Amino acid sequence: MWGIKDILLQLLFALSPFVIYNIHYRKLEINYSKRFILITCSFCLLVSMSFPSSTQEGFIFDSRYVIMFFGILFGGISTGLILLGEFIIYRLYIGGAATFDALIIQAFTFPLSILLCSLYHKIRNGHIITFVAGIGFSLIPFIELYINHPDYIIANLSFNILVIPVQNCLGIWLLVTLFNKSVQDKEFYLKHIQNEKVEAINQVAASLAHEVRNPLTTVLGFLKLIRSNSFNKEKTERFIDISIEEIHRTEQILSDYLSISKPLECIQQKIDLVSQLRTVVEVMTPYAIMNNVTLETESLASPILIFGNPSELKQLLVNFIKNAIEACMNVPCARVGISFRIHLQRVQLVIEDNGIGMDQEQLSRLGSIYYSTKSTGTGLGLTYSYQAIRSMNGTVSVQSEPRSGTSFTISLPLA
Ligand code: ADP
Ligand code: MG
Repeated sequence: MWGIKDILLQLLFALSPFVIYNIHYRKLEINYSKRFILITCSFCLLVSMSFPSSTQEGFIFDSRYVIMFFGILFGGISTGLILLGEFIIYRLYIGGAATFDALIIQAFTFPLSILLCSLYHKIRNGHIITFVAGIGFSLIPFIELYINHPDYIIANLSFNILVIPVQNCLGIWLLVTLFNKSVQDKEFYLKHIQNEKVEAINQVAASLAHEVRNPLTTVLGFLKLIRSNSFNKEKTERFIDISIEEIHRTEQILSDYLSISKPLECIQQKIDLVSQLRTVVEVMTPYAIMNNVTLETESLASPILIFGNPSELKQLLVNFIKNAIEACMNVPCARVGISFRIHLQRVQLVIEDNGIGMDQEQLSRLGSIYYSTKSTGTGLGLTYSYQAIRSMNGTVSVQSEPRSGTSFTISLPLA
């Protein structure tokens, strides 16, 4: 039983780079560095050599080969050389009858580690390499000690034939496999974050292009009319005035979008929903007028404070209001209404329209990425908005009836 206890203790030491990695990098948006590997491996080597498996007659067995192999594999040869230096100094300091043997063994195991690590990166089945490493790191000390101290080997045969190989094979296999798995998960997570950022930028760019295209088309039409010279001076001046107005509007749209789509920072602050909504309604009013839609907002004097990111909040309000306007732009007496309700420490913002509405199938697909029923739609507005609302601990519910209208209720906790 002493063997199992020793193996478990040495495995615990050997697995500490994996454990420390998972604790240290859990919330960081970066992956491991060579410096991290060097620091954790140096620490593990010291601990493992300080509390070895067996110290009979100066013969010390620990997880040194496991840790050095791992250090070279993930930290490179430079990390391996520093660990080798640390090992030699500490082993000389500990001393004992087998000090010289330990150094001779390292002269063989260290180059073997470098060779196996370079093979590990080249071949597909890494498990074979970890197994070969475990056996190699047990066989080399066995042969060396058998040549120089046969009495010791014969007296501790089961320890050298069973405990050491199991400890080395299991240690290397577990550490390398578990660490690799964590690193891959982290890479996947980092890629996912990157994609989300790109998506948010795409969404803003796509809706911006959509907004700017309308005034540009108007100006282009008027310029063509002016060049045809078939209108009197008064009419031509009117065309120029409208064109100038449209260009101003484009400028306004661009600056509003710039303020809305400032880089998404991870800031959560107290914001007044009423004043943010007022700004967004001002931005969206020309769009509503152009589409013959009446935009009505409940006027509130007192602020409603919530926690969130102001630019994300503005962006999501734009998305909902724009959708509502687009839903009713072809119906008679088109109207979009925005109202508030305070209920159980939450504010409920209701955005309703009397537009085309949605059937059950459309409702079930709402918020899915790229889902759009519009010829110029991106299908990203609601995906982004739902995500932003979730990040503010909010919820969205929707009621809709085909041909009679839709009502979105956004519920957010009060600050
Ligand atoms: P996009 O506006 O680019 O199409 P969104 O994600 O903003 O993308 O909306 C996705 C789809 O949800 C729209 O294409 C539309 O079919 C539907 N939708 C969203 N809001 C409304 C609404 N108020 N009334 C009717 N349909 C809506
Ligand atoms: Mg939209």
